[in-house]
Amino acid sequence: MRPVLKIIAFALAVSILAGCPAKKRPTELATPVNGRVLLAQVDVVTAQACPLCSRPVYACPVEPKAAETLGQALGAAFTEKRFEVIKGKVPAKNSEESPGITNWIELGKGLNAGYVAAAELYCWKEREGTALASQSPARVGFHIHVFDPAAGKEIWGGNFYEQQQSLSENVLEFRKFARRRGKWITAEQLAREGTIKLIDQLIEAQNKNASDSVH
Ligand SMILES: [Zn+2]
Repeated sequence: MRPVLKIIAFALAVSILAGCPAKKRPTELATPVNGRVLLAQVDVVTAQACPLCSRPVYACPVEPKAAETLGQALGAAFTEKRFEVIKGKVPAKNSEESPGITNWIELGKGLNAGYVAAAELYCWKEREGTALASQSPARVGFHIHVFDPAAGKEIWGGNFYEQQQSLSENVLEFRKFARRRGKWITAEQLAREGTIKLIDQLIEAQNKNASDSVH
């Protein structure tokens, strides 16, 4: 068994034994379980507003493969942030229409997930040029909405929208540009950064809720 599989199997066994996964701060975790999260299929936004929160978005054309790439990045980011990622499938009513969020929440409840995460992808523009010389940098935008399936309601939502800027364009971006070693990153790399950033915000919000309810 690969080490990763061993960890997942162990985490699964612990969560079954415990009845429900403990919501602890990441630094206190003995096992890589921050909660069970069901990932809903990534939805591509074709209008100028997010269908889940109705907030206006800076939509740009999204390549067909991008939704899948974002879904993989989101799964990897949740795993890295010590969530147990579960995947399921909700049959679409027809090929034109993607299944609604209420179906995903129902499925999450049935699978005993602590969270259902739904991403709404509204912009995915690939970098033109190379890592060292780009005529047009990558641009990525998406919302992540997180639901509590037991309560049947949204508990958190976040937005990531970024076009990489060079140091000459924006001196405030210095740390980011230095971290990326002065290179132009791809849309996929930008999306990976975005998913990690939003999940960090989710964990922070959950920890704040937990400490608020204690005091
Ligand atoms: Zn939204």
